[in-house]
Amino acid sequence: MKTNRNQPEAFNRRKFLKGVTLTLGTTILGLPLLSMSQKSAESSVAAENESEQTGAQKRKLGIALVGLGQYSANQLAPALQETENCYLAGIVTGTPSKAQAWKTKYNIPAKNIYNYENFDEIAQNKDIDIVYVVLPNAMHAEYTIRAAKAKKHVICEKPMATTVADAQRMLDACRQNNVQLAIGYRLHFEPFHRRVMELGQKQVYGKVQQIEARNSGDQTNGSLDIWRLNKKLAGGGPLMDLGIYCVQGAIYTMGTTPVAVTAKFGEVTKPSYFYDVEQSISWQMEFENGVVATCNSSYADDENVLSSKAEKGWWKLSPSYAYEGKKGETSEGPMNLPNIYEQVKQMDSQAESFRRNKPSIVPGEMGLRDMKILMAIYESAKAGGKRVPIN
Ligand code: NAD
Repeated sequence: MKTNRNQPEAFNRRKFLKGVTLTLGTTILGLPLLSMSQKSAESSVAAENESEQTGAQKRKLGIALVGLGQYSANQLAPALQETENCYLAGIVTGTPSKAQAWKTKYNIPAKNIYNYENFDEIAQNKDIDIVYVVLPNAMHAEYTIRAAKAKKHVICEKPMATTVADAQRMLDACRQNNVQLAIGYRLHFEPFHRRVMELGQKQVYGKVQQIEARNSGDQTNGSLDIWRLNKKLAGGGPLMDLGIYCVQGAIYTMGTTPVAVTAKFGEVTKPSYFYDVEQSISWQMEFENGVVATCNSSYADDENVLSSKAEKGWWKLSPSYAYEGKKGETSEGPMNLPNIYEQVKQMDSQAESFRRNKPSIVPGEMGLRDMKILMAIYESAKAGGKRVPIN
């Protein structure tokens, strides 16, 4: 995505905005808090308030990042220097040079540094409360399940897994071990997207009539040798990586899940890259009341939009999914909202939920729901655009 995962660690400028979401939280109170069942987990608007309370006297929860790639290095670790409810307590990496560099940079004790072989010993480590899985998609299931067996709460990056069966196994493992599982859906914690939830779900401009969502960007960095191009590791192409944000955006605009999808793969213009995963895909999500979300995602274009038209007005976010620089507009004028350091807000909120042994507003059930939709989109595209119902 053009969410610039290679951005340098220049986020301290956002510190001054840390308090702003408290205000936002209060503007969206009053929506019905639906249960966290799979069908209704998308209606997370009101639940945010629940995780707003910070426990100043309580100790910060320790997070161990598993996988020290771009997202961990450039977003999560810097964010964990600013979080109030959690901190970077440990790391899990297969690369000894990274272990040394991170140890020095973040002052991580040697006893909190693991590799993929001795990872299970983390069960004995009282400094680590949460394991945050930031590995290639196909590895999410193994490390989430191992973390759950070690009795650690888990945050797992999106997409939750590469198959519905894996997502279900992850959820089961967390339930069996009585730990919480949350997905790294950062946009649920961010003012522009929370405003979209409010506009759509509270029908501020009347009923939503149509939605458009496009998220595209070159994620290859000009390299053929990356896991994102390998179906076994990525589960698929831009749909899994970027399109998932469109799926999410349409669902939280509506506050309901789609009833069916239709999809079509795009043309392959760069076959040396896209021989295993799709280069681009377009799809429609059909909601119960006949509303259709028209979506597109590609590794070869550059688009970043979430927009809706309602009975009495419209709104549009663009850029929508980037870490920063979001812009929003409604039929009444520009959205006057701040860009915040959303990973700080996300992890603080999730840590607070875990501390209270409550589900995050973006629980594993939501990740499983989305996996079913992503797989239905692929099923439709493979079948030449057949309408696939979502169960
Ligand atoms: P990356 O390629 O930069 O990092 C992957 C890490 O996994 C590396 O440290 C690599 O060494 C390690 N790894 C371990 N085993 C590996 C294997 N067999 N093959 C390849 N790498 C292996 O990827 P990334 O961009 O940091 O993405 C990691 C996860 O985070 C993905 O699931 C991705 O979807 C997610 N992500 C989320 C966001 C977000 O905004 N929420 C942004 C970027 C990435």
